[in-house]
Amino acid sequence: MQRVFLLMTALLLVCGLSIPEVGAKKKDRFYFERLGYAHWEFPVDKKVIALTFDDGPDPIYTPQVLELLSAYHQHATFFLIGRKVKQYPQIARDTALLGNELGNHTYTHRHVARMTESELIQELNETHDEIQRATGEDTKYFRPPRGFYDERSVLTAYRHGYPVVLWSWDEDSRDWEAPGVHNIVKTVMSHIDPGDIVLFHDGTGNSKQTISALKIILPALQERGYQCITISEMSRLSRAAANAAHK
Ligand SMILES: [Zn+2]
Repeated sequence: MQRVFLLMTALLLVCGLSIPEVGAKKKDRFYFERLGYAHWEFPVDKKVIALTFDDGPDPIYTPQVLELLSAYHQHATFFLIGRKVKQYPQIARDTALLGNELGNHTYTHRHVARMTESELIQELNETHDEIQRATGEDTKYFRPPRGFYDERSVLTAYRHGYPVVLWSWDEDSRDWEAPGVHNIVKTVMSHIDPGDIVLFHDGTGNSKQTISALKIILPALQERGYQCITISEMSRLSRAAANAAHK
């Protein structure tokens, strides 16, 4: 009998440990979004979207992206890797001079879960300083490598002055795995909505497909009446829309 009781107690303990705490607030996307600590998209009342490019500056692909954006009079946000800015400061400078926004994507592109809090702060600072030296610009937003986020990294970045910017769940072009130009175009264009953040890469070996896809996507967006703006502009428009709604 005693053995059965002990077994029951052990079972309850094991089960009890796996049951989530009742009433605990889940720190998911919506929790961080509500607080303004992180953004996946922005509620706006205009036909605008934010194109974002990760992992540059790249000497081959970034200039091609810049040329295309300029040709269609559009702007984007580039999440730069600090050590690449050190290698290619002129490309970072050109990116900013054309009216694009520069974001912080860490110095080494290490996974943030493998960094201590102080290492993450150091990576943010080093990247900020490298970008400022090259361009004179401040970085205002942080995108963690591979889009990984958890409570610790979001709070660390936010307290350090960096809201986190991810991307719309249906706007990951997956261009980094070279899915084919047609698939990149289809992924982006079939789900586009005002306020979306679209994820591209200009600093991977597969960015050639990104360039070909942009040649189709940019005129298609224009045809549908969309304007591509930076994350800062999007944030401003989103706040203005919220204020107008409360009046
Ligand atoms: Zn990246």
